[in-house]
Amino acid sequence: MEMGTISAAYIASAILFILSLAGLSNQETSRKGNWYGIIGMVIAIVATILNKSVDAYGWLIIAMVIGGGIGARLAARVEMTQMPEMVAILHSFVGMAAVLVGFASFFDPALDLYGAAATIHNVEVYLGILIGAVTFTGSVVAFGKLSGKMGSKPLLLPMRHQLNLGLLGLSILLGWWFLSVGHDGGTLPLIIMTLLAFAFGVHMVMAIGGADMPVVISMLNSYSGWAAAATGFMLSNDLLIVVGALVGSSGAILSYIMCRAMNRNFVSVIMGGFGTTTGGGEEEGEQGEAVAIQADEVAQLMTDASKVVIVPGYGMAVANAQHAVSDLTKQLRDKGIDVQFAIHPVAGRMPGHMNVLLAEANVPYDIVLEMDEINDDLGEVDVVVVIGANDIVNPAALENPNSPIAGMPVLEVWNAKTVIVSKRSMATGYAGVENPLFFKENTRMLFGDAKDSVDAIKSSI
Ligand code: NDP
Repeated sequence: MEMGTISAAYIASAILFILSLAGLSNQETSRKGNWYGIIGMVIAIVATILNKSVDAYGWLIIAMVIGGGIGARLAARVEMTQMPEMVAILHSFVGMAAVLVGFASFFDPALDLYGAAATIHNVEVYLGILIGAVTFTGSVVAFGKLSGKMGSKPLLLPMRHQLNLGLLGLSILLGWWFLSVGHDGGTLPLIIMTLLAFAFGVHMVMAIGGADMPVVISMLNSYSGWAAAATGFMLSNDLLIVVGALVGSSGAILSYIMCRAMNRNFVSVIMGGFGTTTGGGEEEGEQGEAVAIQADEVAQLMTDASKVVIVPGYGMAVANAQHAVSDLTKQLRDKGIDVQFAIHPVAGRMPGHMNVLLAEANVPYDIVLEMDEINDDLGEVDVVVVIGANDIVNPAALENPNSPIAGMPVLEVWNAKTVIVSKRSMATGYAGVENPLFFKENTRMLFGDAKDSVDAIKSSI
C-alpha cells in the first residue's frame, strides 16, 4: 500500500476514534460509538499490516491468531463483574508493549540517527519505557486488588513519600546519564531505570487504599494512553500518537471527574494512604440493631408509594439482578408509581459500571439520574431501595470525620421516608468500612441474594 493511501486510512481511523469517543459519552449513542471504534481499529490494523516496511507476514499471522484467539476466548467468558479487572490487565499489556518496543527501538541496528535526531529518539525511548514500566506493574497490582487476589488495604511503608521522591530523582539522574552516553553505553542506565519504574508502579498502587481505586483505574487508563503515544513517536506512527493522546487525555479527564466525585485531590490520591484511619467509635455494638424485612412487606411498601428510587451498587452486578430490577421497574411504572434510579459516580467497580448494566437490561435512560441530579430530592421519596450498594450510601462519609471515606460525597438515601437495603449479610463493602445506614430507624434490611430478593418482590406484587 502506498504511503499516501496509508496516511488517508490513518486519518479515517483517527476520525472514527474521535466519533467513537463522542458516541460513548452518551448512553443512547454508545452502541454507535462502539461500532465507530471497531471499524476504526480494523482500518488501522489493515493499513499498518499493508505498510511496505512490513514483510514478516508469517510471524504476524501467528501472533494475531494466538493473541486474537486468547482475547476472543477471554472476552466471551468474562463475567460483567470481572470487567474492571480485565480492563486493568489489558492496560498492563499496553505498558509492557511500550517497554518492549522501547528496547527494540533502542537496539534496532537499522536505525542510524545522529545529533539532535538521535537525542530526540533517545528521549522518546526513555520516556516510553518509563511510562510503560510504571503502567505495567501498576496495572498488574490494580488487577490483583480488583480481583480480590490482593487485599484492598493500602501498604504504607515508612518514609514512603521520601522513597517515591528518591525514585523520581533517580529516574531523572539516570535519564541524564542515558542521554549523555547515548547509544554506546545507554543499556545500563536504561535497564536500571526500567527496574526502578517497575518497583515504582508496584509501590504506587500498593499504597492506594480501597476507596481510591476508581481514580487509580482511570489514572492507569491515562498512563496506558501516554505509553502508546510514546510508542507512536518511537515508531514514527502518527495514528498511534493520535490514539495514545486520545486515551491519555480522556483518562486524565476521567481521573479528574472521579477525584471530584470523591472530593479528593489528585496529588493526595497518588501519594496514597487514603483509607488508613479507622473509624472512631464505630464498633458494631454501639450501632444499635438492624431490622430485617421480608420481600412481601417490601412489595407492599413499594406499591403504596408514589415515588420510589432504586440505588444500584456492586452487589447488583454480582447477583446479575439488573434484568429482574428492570422488570420490577416496569411493573411499578405500569401501576403509575414514579420510579427513578440514582447512580453514584463510583458505584460498582469501574466508571459507568451501573449505567452499562441498566442499559443492558433496557431500563429507560431518562429515569437514570446521576447523584448530583437527585441527591437534594431524596427527602421527598417514599421508598429508596438500595440493591447491593454499600460504600456509596454510607452516612459516615459525611458524619464521621475519622471515617476512612470521610469527605466522599454519598447518596443521602436516609433522608427518604423508608430505606430498604438488599444485601446478603451485614458485611462491609469494598472500602471495608462499617455502615451506620443499616442501623437507622427508617432502614430495613432485606437479606439474601439481590436477584432472589427482587424476584420475590416481583412475585409478591
Ligand atoms: P460496595 O463494594 O461498597 O458494596 C457492595 C455490597 O454488595 C456489599 O456490601 C455486599 O454485601 C453486597 N453484595 C455482594 N454480592 C451480593 C449479592 N449477590 N446480592 C446482594 N448483595 C450483594 O459497592 P458500592 O457499589 O456501594 O461501592 C463501590 C465501591 O467500590 C466504592 O468503595 C468504590 O470506591 C470502589 N471502587 C469503585 C470503582 C469504580 O470505578 N466504580 C473501582 C474500584 C473500586 P454482602 O456481602 O452482605 O451481600
